[in-house]
This record gives sequence, C-alpha cells and structure tokens, in this order.
Amino acid sequence: MTDQTTNITRENGCYYSWCPLSCIGPLSRRIKNSYFINIGTRECAYFIQMGLSRRDELDAPFSFAILEDADIGSGNIFEPLRGLVGKIHGGSKPEVIFLMGSCSTEIMKFDLFELSHKLTAEFNIPVIPVQTSGMCNSQADGEDMALSGLVDFCCSRFTGAELEDETEKVVLVGSVSEYTALMLKNEMKKFRIPFAGIFPGNNISGTLEISKNMGKNSIIVPLYPYLSKTIRKIKQRYKCKIFNTTFPIGHDGSKIFYSDLCEHFGVSADAVCDAADSVWKDMEVKANLLKNRKIFIIGDGLFEIPAARFFSNIGANVVEVSTPRINPSMGKELSILEPGISVVEAADVFSQFKRIEREKPDMVVAHLSLARAFQAQGFLTFPTVIYMRSEFLGFSNAKHLVEFVPHGTDIGVGLFHPKGISEERAFMREVTKKVSEGVVKLSKEEIEKYLKVLDKK
Ligand code: SF4
Repeated sequence: MTDQTTNITRENGCYYSWCPLSCIGPLSRRIKNSYFINIGTRECAYFIQMGLSRRDELDAPFSFAILEDADIGSGNIFEPLRGLVGKIHGGSKPEVIFLMGSCSTEIMKFDLFELSHKLTAEFNIPVIPVQTSGMCNSQADGEDMALSGLVDFCCSRFTGAELEDETEKVVLVGSVSEYTALMLKNEMKKFRIPFAGIFPGNNISGTLEISKNMGKNSIIVPLYPYLSKTIRKIKQRYKCKIFNTTFPIGHDGSKIFYSDLCEHFGVSADAVCDAADSVWKDMEVKANLLKNRKIFIIGDGLFEIPAARFFSNIGANVVEVSTPRINPSMGKELSILEPGISVVEAADVFSQFKRIEREKPDMVVAHLSLARAFQAQGFLTFPTVIYMRSEFLGFSNAKHLVEFVPHGTDIGVGLFHPKGISEERAFMREVTKKVSEGVVKLSKEEIEKYLKVLDKK
C-alpha cells in the first residue's frame, strides 16, 4: 500500500455500461415496502424481468407502464399511469413508489417530476421520480438517482434545522440489506464510534427516522463510491459534514475506514487492527488463489478503484483499472492505490481490447455488456454485476470478495444459460443467488464443496 498521487489517463471513449434500471432488484429488497414503476418499452420490461430472474413472483415489487404509440402520440401518459398507481395503491399498499424513466427518446421527454408530483397529490403516497436510463454511463447511476430522490422526499417531511443535539455522530450512506446493516452497526459499536444510523433505512419509517436526526453535527460517510448526487444533496439540505476516507470494502479498506473514524473521534484503533488481522487470517487461503494473477478491470459501476486497491493488496497484479468517471469521494482510494496500476477514466473500449490482447491477463473483470465477448475469446471473466449486487461491506463481509472470483466464468455462463448446466454450475449459481440476496452465510458443506470445485480448477 502506498500514499502517492496516481496518474490518471482520460480517454473520452465509448461507454458500454449495464443499464441502471438493474438497481430495481437490490433496492426493492433493501428498502422494504417500496415499489418501482418503469415507464419504458417492452425491452425494459424484458430486461428487468429476465435480468433479475424475478418474473415468476406474483408479488414482485415492480411493474411497467409500457407505452404504446397511441399514448406517446397523445402526449398524455398521466391517465394510464394514474390507473396503474391506483391498482398498486389498492393492492400491494407500498410506502413509497419510485417512478423510473428509460432511454427511449419519447419517454425522456416526459416530465417525470411533474408526473410524480401529480400522482403524490392524488394518492397521498410519495412517488419519487428517478430520471435514469440506459444512456447513463454507470450502472450505479440508477441507485444514486433513487436515493437522492429519497433525500428530497425526507427533506419535504423534515429539515434538520431544528436539531438540538450538538454531539457529532456518524451517518453511513448507502443502501444495504438488513443483515449488512446489523453487521455495520455491530462493528461501529465494537470500535466505539458514535453512530446515528444508515441512510436509507430498511423501510421508509426507518429512513425518515434517520433523516430526522441529520443536521450540521452529522458526519456523513459514503459506503459506496457512486453516491455523489445523494451525498451532495444531503450536504446541501442538512448542512452535514462529509468525511473522506476509503470505502469499507475488503479487510484493508475497512481497516482504514474505521481507523480514520476512530482518529476523528479520538478513540483507540487497536480493536480495528485486531479485526483486520483476524479477517485476513480467515480469507488468506482463498485470497492466495489470486496471488500474482494478472487482473484487468473494466468497470461500469464506479467500484473499480476500491476493487483494484483490494486485489493489489492481496497480491494480485492489477495491470489496468478503468472507471466511467472519477469523483471526489474516491480521493483517498486513489492516493493509496499501488503505483504501476494504470487508471483510465472513460476508457475507449476498442483501445482496451488491444491492451487486453497484449497483456493477456489471467482474469478480466468486466460488466455484463462485455463479459461474454471476453469469455468467447477464452478469458476467465468476472462480471462486475456480482459486486454490485453482493454483500461485501465491512469486516464481516470482506471474505466474500474472494469467495467467488475464481469462478467468474461459471457464474457468468450460469446467468445466461439457466438450462442444461452441469451440477457443478447449478451449485455455483445457487451460491451466487444466496450472495446476491444477502444470504451470505454458507453452510460448512457448501464451503467444502466450493473448495473442492476450486481444487479441480
Ligand atoms: S432503459 Fe434503455 S438500456 Fe435500459 S432496459 Fe430500457 S431500453 Fe434497455
């Protein structure tokens, strides 16, 4: 690990990112009783249903307002939307509805804010506009837009101006499952860091409760690198202080994350160092599988810089890491990145293909839009969507980062070919599903079987 200024190249290249509508899956699981309406085309509906493997669920927390030519021609989509929201309101009774856009030009012209405002007034239920689409250059933008909309909604109910508490407390920002929320809460408590909660909570009342306690003495710490709009909005609305550190990703990132907070609050970080050592002992065997492996990271979710830092700290040889854009919250991550790792912002994918051909990496971490192309060329490929949808924050989850990496190919193929897969692949898919759903405790038998598959490889 080193403290230095990283050289960043900007290529202004083409963007190939997985559609941000994919955030519907994790967000609907993490914010209970929320509902998502996508105003889109049949392609969007198909993408959400197939991509998230949730087409069989009768009570799935999302639906689609698929626009026909007549609706677009008339320019009035409020009526069909009104009927849909009325049905949802009477049926699932959600606490909040997110109204998501899509990338068809006609739909981009609709004023989602105006529509949401009218629907909120009519049904007396918060309808939050999320102006996102496949045109965004990061698959994480959907989640950032949805959470920043949630900040607006919370502010409309309460502004932190009346807060009297003068004690500084940490508010972690980023959507997490109940399991991860509990793990992070326990870790904050163990390290004696004053802690107010996580925004958003796992339901709307919990989210409102946290926002009620946010004010100028709140120390806002982002959990993910892609929340710049949400963080900016929280800062503007609540006058909070933003804390810059690493992201709690991996044993190394979590160690710096908690140590920096301990230093800020003047408490000893000895327990943090002990926790980091013990987590490393737990994951060392699996992490060693990546030792000296050449890794090339092409990202679309802004996770790439922390992932590169983690891989290089466990001994992998990261040759290049590209990210759609760099934002201020990545400052500390960039400053400790191993020298020699080439960082590329908005990479030109065609130049990257050439560099990959030249470098011949052992593994390519790539988003799903490109992963199969690399698979077809014979590269072991790890789809970034696994990171985006998995639980890996804090010390408690750090080992999951290495548990699935050597099987990137199997996981990727499994996702695309649900039928006719081997028993081994079916097992890997089951494990992946558990991780993406936040059920991350694998049984002893599963771990043994997993290690056996590793040995075979
Ligand atoms: S928003 Fe665009 S990229 Fe995303 S699913 Fe719909 S058509 Fe595809």
